[in-house]
Amino acid sequence: MKNNINIYEIMERLEAVLSPYPHPLMLHEPCFEGNEWEYTKQCLDSGWVSSAGKYVEKFEQHLADFTGVKQAVALVNGTAALHLSLLLAGVKAGEEVLLPALTFIATANAVSYIKAVPHFVDSSEYSLGLDSEKLSLYLQEMAHLKAQGSFNKYTGRRISALIVMHTFGHPVDLDPLLDLCEKYQMILIEDAAEALGSYYKGKHVGHGGLLSTLSFNGNKIITTGGGGAILSNDSEMAARARHLSTQAKVPHPWAFNHDQIGFNYRMPNLNAALGCAQLEQLPRFIEKKRLLAQRYQLAFSSLAGIKIFQEADYATSNYWLNVLLLDEEYSKERDRLLELTHQQGIMTRPAWTLMHKLPMYKDCPRMDLSTAESLERRIINLPSSAFLVQ
Ligand SMILES: *Cc1c(COP(=O)(O)O)cnc(C)c1O
Repeated sequence: MKNNINIYEIMERLEAVLSPYPHPLMLHEPCFEGNEWEYTKQCLDSGWVSSAGKYVEKFEQHLADFTGVKQAVALVNGTAALHLSLLLAGVKAGEEVLLPALTFIATANAVSYIKAVPHFVDSSEYSLGLDSEKLSLYLQEMAHLKAQGSFNKYTGRRISALIVMHTFGHPVDLDPLLDLCEKYQMILIEDAAEALGSYYKGKHVGHGGLLSTLSFNGNKIITTGGGGAILSNDSEMAARARHLSTQAKVPHPWAFNHDQIGFNYRMPNLNAALGCAQLEQLPRFIEKKRLLAQRYQLAFSSLAGIKIFQEADYATSNYWLNVLLLDEEYSKERDRLLELTHQQGIMTRPAWTLMHKLPMYKDCPRMDLSTAESLERRIINLPSSAFLVQ
């Protein structure tokens, strides 16, 4: 017989990890201990603060080097990166795009920007990302494969793409999802916003999809203030991303000509300077975050009813945000625990409200989402800043 979960016991174990650091402790704070001041000052001194400047290209090169993906295109934020990726992938208005219900709103919004329809898919307890087996069974039942692609039997709309998301930095099991994409003629896009520094079967995430996206928002593992990027092994795709993100301006020493409707989505030099300094510290951040995850693991290992989520056996995670996962029978304690931790200056957070529960997405097509719904009741994110390991 297990006892009722004791939230004071949980508090004690949290404090065992976090007490050396001054509270309140935010969920994820940026860390500027490298060349941030120097590089941004160089930007200001040179006058090159906007999208033309040497740091943008440098940042892109360093991102490509770090991830091993051929091309990186630095953009204003991760949401813009998703928007542009869907356009570049050729997803059209009125088509359906499969994506997890358990994700940050940006993933679904980007689909809406191009007037496509989000179609929500369930997640796996093992990866916190898309459940490929469940999706496979669902597609068998729902999708009608024709010469021009797969169509939703019930809505008649083409299902043209699948967006996967590496939840809290944990890589989804990509291979079976890639197989499904091939079988059903869907384009795969990786929303890797949370997963810079995470590896799938020894390879950095971002190699699976036609296009992948990153975010460098203030709470991500590295930050450029606001920022994002598209990664692609397809050089032509990357060239098109650069062109579309700079107002589709035709290169010329003085003439202003544009050959299509473009966007002002390129990352400014000032942000890229910050990014270059942050990237230099990324290996150290990853090391510290993996150590922090171990400490949480150890602190909670003997407690029944909860666990600290661990990377899958195929994955090396950046542990962007640590997850305390309650057993289903203890999910009713979640809000008391959130409240108590906040009272004590530990800024925990529940999972995002699932996409299909939001008013603008409640009528979108979706499969059975019982695992995502269970995870939503049970996830608590714990403070995960790199400075929590000294
Ligand atoms: C952070 C994030 C994004 C992009 O966010 P921006 O704030 O626009 O950079 C997209 N998807 C997920 C899953 C994210 O966590």
